[in-house]
Amino acid sequence: MKKHILVHGRLTDVQLAQLGEHFEVQVCQGATPAEDPAFLDALPRAHGLIGSGLVITPEWLDAAPNLEAIATISVGYDGIPVEELTRRGILLCNTPDVLTETTADTGFALILAASRRVVELADFVRRGDWQASIGEAQFGSDVYGKTLGMIGFGRIGAAIARRGALGFGMRVLYSNASPKPALEQELGAKRREMDALLEEADIICVTVPLTAETEHLIGAREFSLMKPSGIFVNIARGRVVREADLIAALEKGQVRAAGLDVFEQEPLSPESPLPHMPNVVALPHIGSATRETRDAMAQRAVDNISRALQGQRPISLVNEEAWRP
Ligand code: NAP
Repeated sequence: MKKHILVHGRLTDVQLAQLGEHFEVQVCQGATPAEDPAFLDALPRAHGLIGSGLVITPEWLDAAPNLEAIATISVGYDGIPVEELTRRGILLCNTPDVLTETTADTGFALILAASRRVVELADFVRRGDWQASIGEAQFGSDVYGKTLGMIGFGRIGAAIARRGALGFGMRVLYSNASPKPALEQELGAKRREMDALLEEADIICVTVPLTAETEHLIGAREFSLMKPSGIFVNIARGRVVREADLIAALEKGQVRAAGLDVFEQEPLSPESPLPHMPNVVALPHIGSATRETRDAMAQRAVDNISRALQGQRPISLVNEEAWRP
């Protein structure tokens, strides 16, 4: 009998056909799995689960006694209780590497847009307010030659820093759990304690994963250390930052501008002031959202789950401890 895979997320027809060669595949269409009765009904039969933005609860796991593997279509897995999966012998697979460069492009787009006021001034033109030559009131700040402070210096952090150092002549500082000597060598990057980095950098970019340690890592105290001319970019996860403190820091002029791809609550609440602040560039969590990259992420998830359910080691395995060769 074929094993059963439950899919919640966008797979191409070719990818669905690839899964269908070896598995029984059920695609769920609800906005979120939790809102989809068909998804919940199918859990008891599922051997594999593919999805993006999955928030896995112990109740789901109790309802899925046959589950062998979960493949998230993302590199982050903050909504998934990894230790609980490991305890139950369920493999967790993610999609690193294939989204690194695209997400770094989005991060750098936010650095440029917030520094040079691209969105605010495009709106100025759209409104018909461009009536005379622009002056000081429309000036932004340079990116070229500035000091870039990376909070998190893994795959995406390094790719953003590479753009800054090699493309924009930037000096790179980083704060990261472990030292990165190869990147120090490649980019001339210097490691700093986070407080020193906040004080020294002109542009700060967050790329740490959301964990118990990094939740609300950046708040009022950290914003108070930044230069008033500073630019703050978050391309990681919204809950790494205390959003109310960021809003206050922007209002008080402790931080000049922010570029945000991620928020504490997504989609962003209609009550949030952030999209209405002229010095904020807010994007709808599009870090990896290009056709090519989303297809590559889905393909990685398909390959991961196929391998896991056929007894082969998945390409990107998060919980090595759960792997039984
Ligand atoms: P990664 O390669 O694992 O990099 C994360 C880095 O953060 C690592 O270098 C890690 O240090 C460091 N780190 C972890 N905990 C830390 C802490 N408490 N203090 C300081 N540094 C810490 O991951 P990645 O592929 O770059 O992705 C990073 C995150 O970006 C993902 O987890 C995801 O949440 C987010 N993301 C967002 C989007 C988007 O659409 N906006 C897209 C993709 C990813 P070590 O090297 O010492 O382990």
